[in-house]
Amino acid sequence: MAGRFTGRAAVVTGAARGIGEATARRFAAEGARVLLADREPRVEEVAAEIDGSALRLDLADADAGRQLASAALGAFGRLDVLVNNAGIGGSRPLAESDDALIDRFVDTNLKAVLRVTRDCLPHLPRPGGRIVNVASVFGIAGYPGTTAYAVAKAGVAHFTRQLAGEVGPDGITVNAVAPGLIETAMTAGHLQRPHYRRAMLEPTPLRRAGRPEEVAAAVAFLASDDASFVTGQVLAVDGGWLVARCPPGDDGA
Ligand code: NAD
Repeated sequence: MAGRFTGRAAVVTGAARGIGEATARRFAAEGARVLLADREPRVEEVAAEIDGSALRLDLADADAGRQLASAALGAFGRLDVLVNNAGIGGSRPLAESDDALIDRFVDTNLKAVLRVTRDCLPHLPRPGGRIVNVASVFGIAGYPGTTAYAVAKAGVAHFTRQLAGEVGPDGITVNAVAPGLIETAMTAGHLQRPHYRRAMLEPTPLRRAGRPEEVAAAVAFLASDDASFVTGQVLAVDGGWLVARCPPGDDGA
């Protein structure tokens, strides 16, 4: 497994912590040179630890994609893999969502993904370029109370299918992971809430939350040559929550 990304350069957004950090570490462990992008200063520490490069920026800014591409090309002279991971949580039911909240979720969780991808695309190798997006099970099954978030993530899932058709003829693959409940800073508060535990943790067939490293492993697979004939797919990494939603003690009848 070691060395799957030797000689390749990867950009991972939202890499200061959580799933993005684990993904950046995984790529580096498998030989990639990694540009870690985030608005939080911690991204510089993580980058230093894995001998990568760091870029501090707000991905919702209009020129974020151009900044990312030029930083990757400046540092590594190439850009093979783009992972659109950065996202925000903490959405509300629609009735409680003002314009500012809707804009925040759509700008960061959807529009930034489209813009960054568009601006990095010209620099990806043809064939061989890889794009992996981080969607969510909430963008597939829906989860009442998180409407702007869920709709933006559904957009990311469909963007994945849409773009796969557009760039497939160039030999570029586009896939996504849809994490279920993963233990990160984003979900730490939610896990204290009984309703969330009943809705997410207890009905997960594997009966536990996932770890960021488990999502990173799926991202690395989709970005690797092992997935060379896989494109347009949204892979749930959710302990089975989407397909079963099986409460404890249920006898299956
Ligand atoms: P996290 O909050 O721990 O990390 C997200 C990172 O993205 C942070 O470092 C943050 O600073 C960065 N970020 C957010 N908006 C940014 C912006 N505009 N510009 C620059 N950086 C920005 O979250 P996580 O749990 O690791 O989530 C990573 C991705 O996985 C997100 O897209 C999230 O929606 C998705 N996801 C997470 C879960 C889960 O259970 N944790 C489930 C489904 C999907």
